[in-house]
Amino acid sequence: MALVIGLTGGIASGKTTVANMFRDQFGIEIVDADVIARRVVEKGSTGLDAIHQHFGDEILTVEGELNRAELRKRIFANQDEKTWINQLLHPMIRQQMEQDLQRVTSPYALLVVPLLTENNLQHMADRVLVVDVDEKTQIERTMSRDKVPMEQAKSILAAQASREQRLAIADDVIKNDAKNQKLLPQITELHKKYLAISRKNL
Ligand code: ATP
Repeated sequence: MALVIGLTGGIASGKTTVANMFRDQFGIEIVDADVIARRVVEKGSTGLDAIHQHFGDEILTVEGELNRAELRKRIFANQDEKTWINQLLHPMIRQQMEQDLQRVTSPYALLVVPLLTENNLQHMADRVLVVDVDEKTQIERTMSRDKVPMEQAKSILAAQASREQRLAIADDVIKNDAKNQKLLPQITELHKKYLAISRKNL
């Protein structure tokens, strides 16, 4: 299997921007946990069937897709239901990530996992790359991208791992602050490093 670089960072830190640059500049393949999390509950999946059986018809939209607003409502105030859904979906997501990583043909893969620190998923990667920004930049980017007020951006940040917690598990760091947002030179250096490591691992 290709060398796996786990890419993480807080909300609006720049994970997607960074991953797309590795892909567009160097042809590195991306396995994205958020994309997989949607795939395991798409129409016709075993994940959605299990959710339907558990919660009943109200959990589906008229088109037969997952009614996310209804699911959020059901698990918001009910820890047991939240645990149930996590126990159903987390192993499915992990298994699908592993399968997708097996198929990677680039010299290394980027495994993009926004909640890598929170869910202790470092073991899925050979190295952890953290996109690091100061909180002020994160709040500004969240507000402008998602059109949310400052209070909401702050509360999302507060619910995630702290900058220090993320940096504590980092092998490599990309700085993406407003003052330090030259990404390409940092990405080029890391690409060279990852190629060298992947050659050694052959
Ligand atoms: P999330 O996990 O919250 O979806 P993310 O970590 O993938 O976010 P991006 O979507 O890549 O982050 O970036 C967040 C916002 O910040 C986007 O609007 C993006 O265009 C902007 N952004 C990211 N990096 C830079 C940069 N270096 N300079 C200017 N804007 C940037």
